[in-house]
Order: sequence, then C-alpha cells, then structure tokens
Amino acid sequence: MRYSQLFGKTRHNPPCDADSKNAQLLTQAGFVEKLAAGIYNILPLGQKVLAKICKIIREEMNAVDGQELLMPALHPIELWEITGRNKTMDSILYRTKASGDKEFVFGPSHEETVTPLVAKYIKSYKDLPLVVYQIQTKFRDEPRAKSGLLRGREFGMKDMYSFHVTEEDLDKYYEKVKKAYFNVFERCGLKAYLIEASGGPFSDKYSHEFSVETPAGEDTIIICDKCGTAQNLEIAEGKVPDPDARPEKELPLEQVHIERGFSIGDNAKAHGVPSYKILKTVVYEVDETGLIGVVIRGDLSVSEVKLENYLKKPLRSASPELLKQAGLVQGYISPVNLPSKIKLKFIADHSIKNVKNFVTGANAYAQDYKNANIGRDFIIDDFTDLVEVKSGFKCKKCDKPLKEIKAVEVGNIFKLGAKYSRAFNLNFTDKDGKSKLVTMGCYGIGTTRLLGTVVESKYDKNGIIWPKNVAPFTVHLVSLGKDPKAIKEADKLYEKIKESGVEVLYDDRNESAGVKFKDADLIGIPLRIVISERTLEKESVEWKLRDSEKPEFVKISDVVKKISAL
Ligand code: ATP
Ligand code: MG
Repeated sequence: MRYSQLFGKTRHNPPCDADSKNAQLLTQAGFVEKLAAGIYNILPLGQKVLAKICKIIREEMNAVDGQELLMPALHPIELWEITGRNKTMDSILYRTKASGDKEFVFGPSHEETVTPLVAKYIKSYKDLPLVVYQIQTKFRDEPRAKSGLLRGREFGMKDMYSFHVTEEDLDKYYEKVKKAYFNVFERCGLKAYLIEASGGPFSDKYSHEFSVETPAGEDTIIICDKCGTAQNLEIAEGKVPDPDARPEKELPLEQVHIERGFSIGDNAKAHGVPSYKILKTVVYEVDETGLIGVVIRGDLSVSEVKLENYLKKPLRSASPELLKQAGLVQGYISPVNLPSKIKLKFIADHSIKNVKNFVTGANAYAQDYKNANIGRDFIIDDFTDLVEVKSGFKCKKCDKPLKEIKAVEVGNIFKLGAKYSRAFNLNFTDKDGKSKLVTMGCYGIGTTRLLGTVVESKYDKNGIIWPKNVAPFTVHLVSLGKDPKAIKEADKLYEKIKESGVEVLYDDRNESAGVKFKDADLIGIPLRIVISERTLEKESVEWKLRDSEKPEFVKISDVVKKISAL
C-alpha cells in the first residue's frame, strides 16, 4: 500500500479528548476516528489490525471445534423477557421499535438468540457436544464509555457458546478453551492473567476472567510474580504480614477518656500506638439478619465481597441513623462490654488472633479501652478470612510478596449450566431415552478492546510498537529525497517486497525525513526500511526495527531474503 493513497492519515496533534493511550495513539496515527462517546470508526489501518486479531481468534476457536456463524444484532424483546434480562440488564439495553410497534433490543450478548436457535436442531445426545461462535458487533449503553476502545457502547466481540450432555463434558471443554484463550492473547503479543471471578454470593456462576496489565484498566488484581497466580482483589487470599513486634503479656483492661477523630489514623495517633493495635469494628446491615459487627485489625480493611460470600446475603455499611437506633455509639463500637440490651453478633478476621493488648472503643462517647484481649475481654462468634489483600501480603502458594496491579479484562468464560437451556426448553434425548436439559458454557473476547489493549501495552514516547502478528504491515518502506534514481530504486524494492508476499506500507510522499520518520514511529510497523541517495551509495538500505534504537545497513540485494527470515 502506498501511504499517499491510504485513507486515514497521521495527525500532528493527538485529539484533545483522548483519555487513554489507545485513544490518543490510534487516532493520531490514523487507525480509528471517534464518532461519539464509545463509538468509533475503524479506518483501514485499524481494520487491518482488527482483521489479524480476528484471524488469530478464528484459528484458535476452530481448533477447539468452534463453528463460526453470524447471529442478528436486533433481537425481539420477547426473548429477553423469557430470561428476565430485559429487567436485570435494563440500564445497558438499547431498545428500538420496528414498524407495527414490535419492540427489539440491540444485542449486548447472544445467549437469548443462540439458545432458541440451537434448540431447533438439537434432538439427541448424538447431536452433542456442539460449539458455535461469532465475531459480531455488540451494543451496551455503558454509563461511562471511556478509555478509547476499552469501553465502548458499540464494540466488537467474539462470543462462543458450547452445548454438552453432562457437566463433566462441559468441565473438560472449559479447560480446553482456557488454553485456546491463552494462545490467542500470547499470539497477540500480550501476557494475560487468568483470574477466578468472584461471581458474587447470589450467583451460582462459575467463571474466569483473562486480564492484561495496564494503567488504563478499570480492575485491580493481585498477582504473584513468582508463581503467576492472579486473583480478583475482592476475593483475593494472601498471608497477612505479622506486625513486627515483640511478644507481649496480657495487661489489665483499662478504660480511658479520650477526645479523638474517628479514623484509624487519628485513633492510633491519639493513643500513641501503631494502627495494627487498634481493634476495628465495622457494622453492616445484612438483609434478613439485621446488624452484624465485623472485627479486624486497624491496619487492614474488610472485603465486603468475602463477607457477602460468607453470609450469603446482600449487605451494606450500616448508616449512622441505624447505628443510633440500635443504641451504638459511632466511632466507639467494639465487642468489649457491649451493653447487654444491644444484641449484636461479632465475626472477626483471623488477623486479630496474633495481637495482644488492643486499643478499642468502650461503647460510649469519648471512652476507649486499652489492653483489650480476645477471650478474656471479648468473645467473637466466628472467625473467617475477611481481609482485603494488599501489596505486601504474601502468596499462599509460594510465600513471595503479592503485587496489586491495574488490569483490563480482555476475555471472560462462564459455565452457564442449565440456566438458558431451562429458559428456552433446550432438551435432548439421552442414551437412556430420557429427556434432559443441555449444559451450556459461554466464552467472550472483546475484539476491539483487544485492539486497544495491545496499544496500551506496547508503545513508547514516539508511538505504537505493534507486535509482529497483529501489525497492520510488516515493513514500512520510506523513500527520502527527490533523487529520481533513489525513487526508482524504492519503487522497485516496494514491488519486490510485495511480490515476496510480505505486507509493506510504502511512504512515497514528498515529505522531509523528519516528517516521515516521525510518522513511521507513530504508526509503529515492526520494520522500517529507508532508501535514499546516501544509502544507495553503499547499494544498501537502512534497516531499523521499531523496538530497537540502532539502524543498520543491509545490501539491497539481501533485503527480501532478510525480511523473510524475520
Ligand atoms: P466488563 O466487566 O469490562 O464490563 P463484562 O463482564 O461486561 O466486561 P462480558 O459480558 O463477559 O464482559 O463480555 C465479554 C468480553 O467483551 C469482555 O471480556 C470484554 O473483553 C468485552 N467487553 C465487554 N464490555 C465491553 C465494552 N463496553 N467495550 C468493549 N469491550 C467490552
Ligand atoms: Mg460490562
């Protein structure tokens, strides 16, 4: 492709509203152009990368027996009423009406279409397993479209659905897809972490996320560099670091009057103790249960998701009014000498077991206890792991320090079980002649998000650095100067590279070296080859890889051979 003819050119300046590297660089380099918040035109350069990403995905999904199909973007609302997701996903659904007042939604996902579709064809166990997938446009009215291609309102997704006779068969297949997903991300030049998703306490969902580290990501994950374990922050487990203090004897309980702030920092300062010595009590309002006190070391935080998973009920922090109604004194609540008329159950994180002589509230305004000790001064109803893991905790598997990183979810896989087959009567006749529900799995990858994610992970101050497998072109050929001989040689080399089957972008414009080099770096094609009067004096070209500093000279006669070897 001659750059002079390419539709979509580099811009001098990044767009002023770019809120992320991918939005900035992809727009400035001429890969995409924003139409509205979360809605992008993909220009020819961008489309070439996207096509390569999709090709990799297709190859990997075909390798795990996926059959590609294409389902409609417009879904009759009735299908969504059957699963109730017209209500549960109401806030992100785009709805529209066809003539005759028939209501449709723009598909944000395709369980509601694929299940009744498959139900028309599956009759017997002999028809299973079956795996179908598509690469298609999804629509979600995201409350905040942001970070360029990472969170769009209209975006590309590969969604695959698998159908099985038994859960065991789904389990086996699910593991195969995990491997295929790692292949996809690796081939796109990305390191992905596999994370068991929390799913929350109310779903029987079993799912995994694939995440890639980037400061633009919306998720926080906890990783171990040593063994590669990655966990969702909300449910991450880790060894709580012990406070490095000398062993202490239990001292007598003492009540003190103190004027202090409510924060742990204020409290520790007022008492002149480190924050781990504060016994912190957080009160939650739990559905169908009432109030519950959660006790944890002052330097640690409660993971509400772990707490919900433990209690198996929805909960929220108790409001100041509710605390007051219950007779509790905000800022001074503790399990020590709680007035007997107040019924409050206490559960605690294991971390409080290793500390003696806590400072804690005395359940009265401006009154604290010093030297409060478990068992002697207060009773805990149950201990469990409730701590939110932070950097510095140690990995449970290999004892190395854990790290907190920002990441973006690029893929998501779910064991759906019979949720959708039940809703749409997707049954099959088993070997024993009985009719049974089909077991399902679903597997998503955000294709346009993946495009944005590659940029977020591969760039420098000058522009994008495309990994070879997804680069829009392999070679960026640049001719310099107006010397007719040099131009002729560049034209010739362009034809030769093309003939060898290598994709080449040829900057044939009449621009200065400065402009052409800047653009080449911005666009980020893996190999830049420069031909000029000067290089021709040595019958050579200048050869420079995008991710290396140093150019070298290569004989013109060797160029094509050397590119093939690349
Ligand atoms: P997120 O938590 O980021 O909103 P999700 O859990 O809603 O993602 P799924 O419904 O599982 O995502 O969709 C499958 C994949 O589609 C995701 O892993 C992600 O890569 C991609 N995706 C989801 N929402 C968007 C979006 N708004 N823009 C671009 N890609 C998206
Ligand atoms: Mg979402």
